[in-house]
Amino acid sequence: MSKLGCSCGHVIVDQTDDLAYKASLMRDGHEEALYEGIGHLSQAFQVAAEAGSLDQLLDRTYGKTAWRPKARDYLGDRLCNLYAASSTCVYECQNCGRLWVQRGAEHRFVSFAPDSGTYEAVLAVEPSRSPVMGE
Ligand SMILES: [Zn+2]
Repeated sequence: MSKLGCSCGHVIVDQTDDLAYKASLMRDGHEEALYEGIGHLSQAFQVAAEAGSLDQLLDRTYGKTAWRPKARDYLGDRLCNLYAASSTCVYECQNCGRLWVQRGAEHRFVSFAPDSGTYEAVLAVEPSRSPVMGE
């Protein structure tokens, strides 16, 4: 999505990363499948790495195409694809605070307006809740 017109007349623009008014929504029914998928990907990668057959894993996953990630990028690429397939977009109008939730695979959105009628920045990153990943 690049632009979404809100009912209030504001245009929500999505043309960059780290938007304070955009989030991904994980439906509870998709959460378990995501975790199972992560487990399967990790196991397949570990088995292939131990067997010295990462090239064959990449061939099975991407085919013998010119473009494919390097073995070290395999898990990141596959996890991003899995996460994208398991989640949906939510936008918050910075003018009226209305939430726009994507419904279905196509770019159809359903809106929900806050009682306050104002932008609450509910999708913005809260510094105290930022995930910390160890190396
Ligand atoms: Zn709006």
